[in-house]
Amino acid sequence: MRLANYDGRATIVVQGRAVDVEKASNGAMGSDPMLLSDLANHDDLRVIASAADAAAWPAVDEALLGAPVPRPPKGIAVALNYRQHAIESGREMPTEPHLFAKTENCVCGPFDEIIVPAGRTEVDYEAELVIAFGRTCKGATRENAWSHIAGVMCGQDISDRGEQFRPPVKQFTIAKSYDTFGPIGPYMVTPDELADKDALELVGRVSGEEMQRTNTSDLIFDVPALIVWLSRFITFRPGDLIWTGTPGGVGEARNPQRFLRAGDLVETEIEGIGCMRNPVVER
Ligand code: ZN
Repeated sequence: MRLANYDGRATIVVQGRAVDVEKASNGAMGSDPMLLSDLANHDDLRVIASAADAAAWPAVDEALLGAPVPRPPKGIAVALNYRQHAIESGREMPTEPHLFAKTENCVCGPFDEIIVPAGRTEVDYEAELVIAFGRTCKGATRENAWSHIAGVMCGQDISDRGEQFRPPVKQFTIAKSYDTFGPIGPYMVTPDELADKDALELVGRVSGEEMQRTNTSDLIFDVPALIVWLSRFITFRPGDLIWTGTPGGVGEARNPQRFLRAGDLVETEIEGIGCMRNPVVER
């Protein structure tokens, strides 16, 4: 299934049409998009999707799509998870995931503005696969890891490098949690919908220029490994998110460096999911 926050309402996209979950269920289900991660693993939603007469619903206008998980209870991100990015960052190859938080306020929609605070000159893009939990998860195994996932999305882990690396302390969580620094979308796609959920082509572009390209099969710690490792310590609940890490090609590591500025368009595209387009403004 392709699930969406459509004009602020929980929606299933069927043949390019926006099927409103509350209306299609005659009020049996609610309208809050936060329900989607919770419901993704339940049959009720599939019943609605298969019974829907798509033609009776409006065609999706992408401008009305919001973050599929607008208020994640928690968001965790992985700092180095592709070899190429570890090398360009001049850091050791990780032997366990290096984690930080992306706080709930940073989440925004797939076509929303990314706001560079006035005067900040080192704000960078990071195209990533984001996963959303759909079930309570503690002590997952490699074999059952994916069964806890409601769906996958395109994501950006926008980062103010000036703040991230300013002495005396590397403030990853602060530098990556400003308002609008965590766009996600455009759809949350359930894992069963993907031909190979562990091998998805991921591309990041800035103002039409391809900056990043990888396949998620190149992750150092793949999705099951991240779920197993994290759920040893942390209990996950529906709607919790993991940003799984960015490949090589970030602006900071380029020569010359290429940071985001007003007027840029950040595009994040993942095979089988779709393309997110976030314009950059400064204020
Ligand atoms: Zn990142």
